[in-house]
Parts: sequence; structure tokens; C-alpha cells
Amino acid sequence: MERRNFLRGAATVGALGATAVVVAGCEEKTEEASPAAPAVVTKKSQELKMVTTWPKNFPGLGTGAQRLADRITTATDGELTVKLFAAGEMVPPFESFDAVSNGTADMYHGADYYWQGKSKAYNFFTAVPFGLTANENDAWLHWGGGQELWDELGKGFGVKHFAAGNTGVQMGGWFNKEINSPEDYKGLKIRMPGLGGETLRRIGAAAVTLPGGEIFPSLQSGAIDATEWVGPWNDLAFGFYKIAKYYYWPGFHEPGSTLSCGVNLKLWEDLSRAHQAAVASACAAENNIMFAEFNARNGDALNTLLTEHNVQMRRFSDDIMIAIGNAAGEVMAEIGETDAITRKIYESFRKFRANSLGWTSISETAYTYMRGLEYTY
Ligand code: CA
Repeated sequence: MERRNFLRGAATVGALGATAVVVAGCEEKTEEASPAAPAVVTKKSQELKMVTTWPKNFPGLGTGAQRLADRITTATDGELTVKLFAAGEMVPPFESFDAVSNGTADMYHGADYYWQGKSKAYNFFTAVPFGLTANENDAWLHWGGGQELWDELGKGFGVKHFAAGNTGVQMGGWFNKEINSPEDYKGLKIRMPGLGGETLRRIGAAAVTLPGGEIFPSLQSGAIDATEWVGPWNDLAFGFYKIAKYYYWPGFHEPGSTLSCGVNLKLWEDLSRAHQAAVASACAAENNIMFAEFNARNGDALNTLLTEHNVQMRRFSDDIMIAIGNAAGEVMAEIGETDAITRKIYESFRKFRANSLGWTSISETAYTYMRGLEYTY
């Protein structure tokens, strides 16, 4: 009860400084009495704080979080007014999960693999090496039991989870020397966080984790030999083409990173069914819209990198990918043994992945291969 009273108080304060629409939403509206309508209609505005792991307006991710916040506000006619806080504005980025879990914030937009310190199982809900693509991941979440498992995992932390964006397949990264065999990874200083980094360490690379702002100077000075980031759109903006010779594809480590919205579970359970539907629908919409934006802008940015900056593209050879794939399988099996819930999620994920191998190879993969053949069109 204390929490709800606090929220109502905050809503009033917040609304005063916000838009006219919100202020109007706070007022009690008296309508003319008629037999069909109640004499007084009370419309409450509840302000929700959304913290994020992204810098303000960070292309694709930060802008997507803002779009999600705005969509919830619009869909509820301001009854839920979502105020977005960029990384560090309310809490440091990697404290977003705790803030939502303990009720300091109401919701977050981020990438759940950042919470692997809470449970290794969170990796499966963003991306894992040689894991699911964006489409496959959505299929697992909605039709393969993934969402139920995500909710079970979140329940232990007081958080309700939603998929709310996707970067699509990421790029392999920027390298200053060619990688012609798995041996070329030995001693390679590469920025690659998470399970991708752990996988590369298994084949001898010196994988490091660096925050976004330190990557460019580190690659420029030679402190690192290579780095992954996201894809052409974000990588072009960072200017990596100015300091790295080769742009490798594809990214085995993030085959379709799901971004997520986490909602304080108590708050979620107290929302009306209409408000729950508005939040869930807004997340589902942003999940698609962000994925579409990444695909559209990556295509444009790739052309710019090739035609204006003459970037040298390199494809990882099959024997390199097989060596990395074996190492990834080893890492995933170990992750799957962490604890009971992680094992359960790993088993579900693995079963779904095995089915996806068959269907995707004769549908999307086969079609896009054939479309790429030389013919007149
Ligand atoms: Ca990445």
C-alpha cells in the first residue's frame, strides 16, 4: 500500500511538470448526469519511471526505449505516463535490474545478459554464441515455452519480463590483422564481452570487456587488436572504419540480441488488465519496430561503409566457425549446469534450437542463398 500511495503522489508531482494532456488526465472530470453514465468519472494518472542501460537517445536502443515509453503513455491515454531515464540519470546502467527489483524504479529497458551475475540463465534471453536468430528467439518465447521460463526466472527477483527490441544478427567485428585459421586467435586481444568472450578464450584469444567509450581509443592505440560492437549502423557512427583494416562477418556471438523490458512484479500485478495489455502490446510492437529499424539502417550503413569508406569485408571461414562453435558448445553446456532453473532453461533452449536448425535451413537460409545467386531481375 505504501508503494502505491507513493506512486500516486509521484504521479501528481510529475504530472504538474509534464504535458497538458497528463495534467488533464489527473483532474477529476465531471460529466453531465445521464442514466447511462456515472455522474463522476475519475481518471488517474500514474507516473512510471523507466530506467535504461543506454545513453540518452543512443541510436536504435535508447531511441527504442523512448518509443516504448511513449507508446505506453499514448496507449493508456496518459493513465500510465512513462518517464524515461537514460543510463546514469537515476541509477548507473548496470543497476537498472536491482532498481526495478526493489521498486526504486518501475521498469527498465536493457539487455538481460547484463544480469548474468544474478543468474547465468539471463544470457538465454538476450543472445548466446551460436544461439537463436531474432525470429527463432521470438518463436521460442511465444510458442516454445520461453516466456513462461523467463517469467519463472524473473519471479525470483520480483521482475516481469518482456521482449522489447532486437538488433538482428550482429557483425563479427573490426580487426587489424586477418584471421585465416583458428590459430590466428591465439593471443589476439579482442574486445568481446560475455559468453562470446569466454568462447574465444577457449581457443586462445585474450578477450576483454571494455565499456563503449573506451573501445575506439583502445583499438587506435593498439591496446586491443580487434573489437566487436553491433552492426553497420552503430559501427559506422563509432567510426571504426578509420582505425581498423578488416570488417568481419558474421557475428557468431550475438545472432539476434533481444532487448527487454522488465517491470516490477508487484506493480505489474496491481495494474488493471487493460493497462497490462497496453504494456505487453507496446513491448511486442517495439520488439518488431526496433528489429525492422536495425535491418533498414544496417543496409544503408553497409553501403556507406563499402562505397564511401572502402571498407574491406572478410567472411570467417568454415573451419574457424567450426572451431568457435565447438568452444561455444562447451561453454553453453557448462552454463547449463549452473543451477536447476538454468538447466531447465538451457534444455528448453537446446531443444528449440535443434528444431530450428532443420526448419530455418530449408526456409530463410535456403531462400536468401538462392535469392543471392546471379540472375537477371
Ligand atoms: Ca555486440
